[in-house]
Amino acid sequence: MTLATPHARPVSHVLPRVTGAALTVPLVDGRRVPYANLDHAASAPCLEAVRDAVDELLPWYASVHRGAGFASQVSTKVYERARDVVRRFVGARRTDTVVFTRNTTDALNLLARALPRSTSVVHFDTDHHAALLPWRGPRVRRISSVAALDAALRSCPTGPRLVVVTGASNVTGEVWPVADVAAIARHHGARIVLDAAQLAPHRPVDIRALDVDYVVLSGHKLYAPFGAGALVGRADWLRAADPYLAGGGATALVADRGSHLAVSWSAGPERHEAGTPNVVGAHALAVACETLGRHWDAIAVHEQALLARLRTGLAGVPGLRELSLSGGDRVGDRVGVVSFAVDGGDPGLLAAALSAEHGIGVRDGAFCAHIATRRLLTAAGASGTRALRASLGLASTEEHVDRLVAALHALVTRGPAWNYAEVDGRWTPTPDPRPLPPFLSAA
Ligand code: PLP
Repeated sequence: MTLATPHARPVSHVLPRVTGAALTVPLVDGRRVPYANLDHAASAPCLEAVRDAVDELLPWYASVHRGAGFASQVSTKVYERARDVVRRFVGARRTDTVVFTRNTTDALNLLARALPRSTSVVHFDTDHHAALLPWRGPRVRRISSVAALDAALRSCPTGPRLVVVTGASNVTGEVWPVADVAAIARHHGARIVLDAAQLAPHRPVDIRALDVDYVVLSGHKLYAPFGAGALVGRADWLRAADPYLAGGGATALVADRGSHLAVSWSAGPERHEAGTPNVVGAHALAVACETLGRHWDAIAVHEQALLARLRTGLAGVPGLRELSLSGGDRVGDRVGVVSFAVDGGDPGLLAAALSAEHGIGVRDGAFCAHIATRRLLTAAGASGTRALRASLGLASTEEHVDRLVAALHALVTRGPAWNYAEVDGRWTPTPDPRPLPPFLSAA
């Protein structure tokens, strides 16, 4: 008998299963084909383990932190257990707090509101809008490269400082040198928030190993699409800040003082979670964290093999230009996200044709990262302001990748085989005979 060492990580070589793996979608020519989901970076499908866990919880579903009933107590325990699971998932310090939010955008806006007055913020202009836009005021500095961070921090007035860094680009999948950014930030006494929306679904994120102060993430990108995300990190600023929302659940005591209400706000994470908590979302997120945490090795092997296949295939498509922050380095560290432009090809039309004629789901546009996308298109020598993005995950297969590459070849060399028109700014097949699923078409 072999005994596992006490710290051994449970390893599985099997990929966790997702719902919808057997989904077929209609094409405009009347056929149905298996859906090639190459849009994980936008929203990932639900893990079967998450679906089952939600199903198991639903009979017990009741109010959280509010009820004496047994089901309420069970729901409250589920919610608080989820905090611990998320805390462990990101390797948080014992003293860190876990606030459940709706998603990464919500978590970053919460942190922005909780910053002590006179905090200087330094962020990168290539970030997703969720990490780009919440910071306002004269003490915000926007930089374009890690090389500019030291000087930007040097120029900050005295007072608290925060550096915003993205774990993996949602445009190119390139992984940022987070530990290097953190080291520079530390040198200037700054805190660091890591936007892990695109990194956390692909590999372990460890607050302590990366030496960051906060991590934010979204459940729907982590195969748990039930409306929960999280902000994890240092409790002090959050404890001192005004509540994100004013309302029930965030208060320790409210008293009528005649001319005004005397409110004593809770000191814990519930201070920023006013209103009825999303226990289903929190549980779903926690189960996704536990499930992914048992499968990292298999996930890495699966995604990196598909990513290599995808990039090699795309490189052979005539006129295709891959976008890159690092100037096209083929060996750089990446998660399974690739954006590209095709000479003479409208990204919206190509995406519509990939869906309508080939059953492939990709994203087109500027990916809520307008500055990054425009800059990278220019750097790649492409015209226009929009691109296509293929993103890999647990639902992706070799066949999906090969189908995308073959479909792009066909579209680039022969053009679409159907008619399309722009309707409300989106390319749409005309006519579009594809039937909606029965639960929609019956309405
Ligand atoms: N940060 C990154 C890197 C993202 O890719 C996204 C979403 O695509 C977000 C933040 C925002 O996530 P959400 O829409 O879940 O708030």
